[in-house]
Amino acid sequence: MADRKSATKGKVAVHKFYVIEGNKLNRIRRDCPRCGKGVFMAQHNDRHTCGKCGFTEFTHKDQSKKSSKKSSY
Ligand SMILES: [Zn+2]
Repeated sequence: MADRKSATKGKVAVHKFYVIEGNKLNRIRRDCPRCGKGVFMAQHNDRHTCGKCGFTEFTHKDQSKKSSKKSSY
């Protein structure tokens, strides 16, 4: 009659595949919008890059002002 209860060390690492940015919960495993599903992008400090097509997507942190793309007057 051995107790099969293995001692769980404190918390379980559930958030391993998730990264929390502010109030957002983003999955680390992000697939490339160009290549489609199945092609995961590499996670960098503040951006995701696809090693296949070179697509780069910056992760927006909590910014009150939305930076519009190419606002040249
Ligand atoms: Zn790609």
